[in-house]
Amino acid sequence: MKYRITLDSGEAFDVAHDEDTLLRGALRAGIGLPHECSVGGCGACRFELVDGSVDTLWHEAPGLTERDRKRGKRLACQSKPSGDCTIRVRCDDSYRPVVAASKWTATLKARRALTADMSEFTFHVPEQASFRAGQYALLYPAAATGARAYSMSNLANGEGLWQFIIRRVPGGAGSNALFDAIEIGEQIVLDGPYGHAHLRDDSPRDIVCIAGGSGLAPMLSIVRGALAQPGARRVRFFYGARSQADLSALQALDTLAADHPHLKIDVVLSAPQPAPPWDGETGFVHTLVERELALSIAEHEFYFAGPPPMIEAVQEMLMLRHRVPFDQIHFDRFV
Ligand SMILES: Cc1cc2nc3c(=O)[nH]c(=O)nc-3n(C[C@H](O)[C@H](O)[C@H](O)COP(=O)(O)OP(=O)(O)OC[C@H]3O[C@@H](n4cnc5c(N)ncnc54)[C@H](O)[C@@H]3O)c2cc1C
Repeated sequence: MKYRITLDSGEAFDVAHDEDTLLRGALRAGIGLPHECSVGGCGACRFELVDGSVDTLWHEAPGLTERDRKRGKRLACQSKPSGDCTIRVRCDDSYRPVVAASKWTATLKARRALTADMSEFTFHVPEQASFRAGQYALLYPAAATGARAYSMSNLANGEGLWQFIIRRVPGGAGSNALFDAIEIGEQIVLDGPYGHAHLRDDSPRDIVCIAGGSGLAPMLSIVRGALAQPGARRVRFFYGARSQADLSALQALDTLAADHPHLKIDVVLSAPQPAPPWDGETGFVHTLVERELALSIAEHEFYFAGPPPMIEAVQEMLMLRHRVPFDQIHFDRFV
């Protein structure tokens, strides 16, 4: 059964009730419905239901405040239509999908530990893997409710491989299910790609990637994409980790840096351990970026990913203190 969704601007799209949320239906139809996390956490896809009815998937989703709920706001990523609807939402061309998303049954091919709590997961889909460097996909672990967003760490490829670097979150239902409840050869629903913090091909500026924790995944993809471009631009990669034990996650980057003089990697630890000895940078990653780039900071194209406090600190540093133009700043928040 398909329902017709009409925006108050006049645009319209169809959504199959069983298959799609309003957000995914809109994006599949090429409509720029604002969104960020796609899993109920950020609130970017808020809309008002003018007419018709929808089913809400996750009533307590933190993307809506109590005030939003009282004012009748809903999240497009958590709403499935149960009839034709008219909705009010301000669309923006910058949210139009660059690659149309699809849903697949993906097979887990490999899981490789990178650190004590982060592993690289490789899934296979029987079609070519089409996405832009820096985008993410939604995984649906059967043992958890709802979807979880994970960024791809590899590049689009003809072999149908989607790779992710996933951190096991203590007590987290989705990440623990991916580590413990799916064996190699088993299947999972994979839906993507999503996200607009993807590598821009049309900028001549040198690139700065800033990653914290599992924010490594999309930044690794951006670096891989940037180095594969003709006449490669210079890339500075800044990684903020807790301690020396986290640094084994950087092996793939170190290998890339050995082959590409255009790539420079800087690491900063927020809580170095007494052993092995650490004589590198300590502190927070945004402070190191600010000091290293100094006066040339606004001449770069910035990509960053990581936990919300890191994203906020980097945003404040770039936008408020250094007035870096908004169109040179690309990020997806890991809500
Ligand atoms: C754009 C984006 C990219 C990300 N990329 C990565 C990455 O590359 N690597 C990585 O390790 N992590 C990434 N994350 C974080 C990841 O999506 C998870 O939030 C994290 O793994 C914790 O999930 P969990 O299920 O273990 O924890 P939980 O605390 O159980 O759940 C965390 C999130 O899952 C969603 N959720 C919880 N309950 C429900 C429910 N009932 N219905 C629907 N949704 C629910 C919510 O969004 C919640 O914030 C990314 C997040 C975003 C938004």
